[in-house]
Amino acid sequence: MEKLIVNNYGSFDVVLKKGKGSTLYATNGRRYIDFVSGIGVNCLGHNYKPLVKAISSQVKKQIHISNYYFSDTGLDFANKLLSLTGYEGAYLGNSGAEANEAAIKLARKYGQLNGGSNRKTIVTLESSFHGRTLATLTATGQTKFHPECFEPYPSGFKTIKANDFECLDSAFDDTTAALFIECVQGEGGVNILNKEWVQAAAAAARKAGAIVMVDEVQTGIGRTGTLLASSTFDIDAEVVTLAKGIAGGVPMGVCLFKGKANKVFVAGDHQSTFAGNPLACAAGCVVLDTVSDKNFLDEVVKKGEYIRNTIKSWEIPFVKEVRGKGLMIGIQLDSSVKPFDVEVECLNQGLCTTVAGSDVVRFLPPLNISYKEIDEGLAIFEYVLEGFCK
Ligand SMILES: *Cc1c(COP(=O)(O)O)cnc(C)c1O
Repeated sequence: MEKLIVNNYGSFDVVLKKGKGSTLYATNGRRYIDFVSGIGVNCLGHNYKPLVKAISSQVKKQIHISNYYFSDTGLDFANKLLSLTGYEGAYLGNSGAEANEAAIKLARKYGQLNGGSNRKTIVTLESSFHGRTLATLTATGQTKFHPECFEPYPSGFKTIKANDFECLDSAFDDTTAALFIECVQGEGGVNILNKEWVQAAAAAARKAGAIVMVDEVQTGIGRTGTLLASSTFDIDAEVVTLAKGIAGGVPMGVCLFKGKANKVFVAGDHQSTFAGNPLACAAGCVVLDTVSDKNFLDEVVKKGEYIRNTIKSWEIPFVKEVRGKGLMIGIQLDSSVKPFDVEVECLNQGLCTTVAGSDVVRFLPPLNISYKEIDEGLAIFEYVLEGFCK
């Protein structure tokens, strides 16, 4: 396999061939409970009938048309997204990193229009993750993502410490274009930011003339129990980026903007060939229709609480903390057990999990996972954790 696909990922030696609901089937005949959902992408699980139907019928109409024209499906999707989120405009792209690149460009142009050539800096947080392109890597506040081999990195980024009130006094000035944060840091370790701090940071950024941008590539589209995680932090961000779950598995990224950030982009400022193609938009319509339902979101909250409470009830000695919001869940371990070893052993036993930060096992199951699959996955997880106690 390594000969066929460049091994940038350190992929496991499992070849998956199909999925149903939150269960995956491999060519070796084994089945796996899916607590990863393609890193939060397959938010409606695998082979979800309405999604399959919408994609299949869109394929028969048109897959791609370019942005020289509008598509009926694209307009339908954009209308739904804007009316559900309350944003005024959307740039559609193909991935999280691209959505964030759009946000960074938007912030830079906003700075140019509101303060001149000096207002260019994007302030991001330690332990953040914003993507793998050069600009989004630089925005990412983790030195392990900045190896020398990729230098030079773009300038105009500054990193501050999340939840540190003192640093806010000097964090922003007339060179700041935007504050750019994840309200719950995903790759950084499922770190839920302190709401008071997020509000203070947003207020300080705005006081200095900057806009507030939230990376909801992982937290958005129902993952944390509300359509947008930022809505529960009451910061009314001018820009929100989305990707991962937004089209249920079809690649798509979105940069939403409003208020001071609306109408910053004009025709020609930012484009992409594949962006917002009708196939992705058809999938996105099903996701939005499903995930925006109040009962669906309440279930996400309940299932998340159920998973966290169950794990806490086992009282595993090396589990330091079980945290999360909705179905974005982090199990923090002490230094005696490595999360990667847990991930490997879970996979051996038939459960897909992933790691985050340096000491966290992370679950991002499909948002519509059944309680039967949750229980089956948790039974495997408990068995694996107990194995590490011996
Ligand atoms: C995954 C992720 C990205 C990058 O998305 P890609 O689609 O891999 O480019 C950016 N920000 C956050 C918060 C993410 O979780």
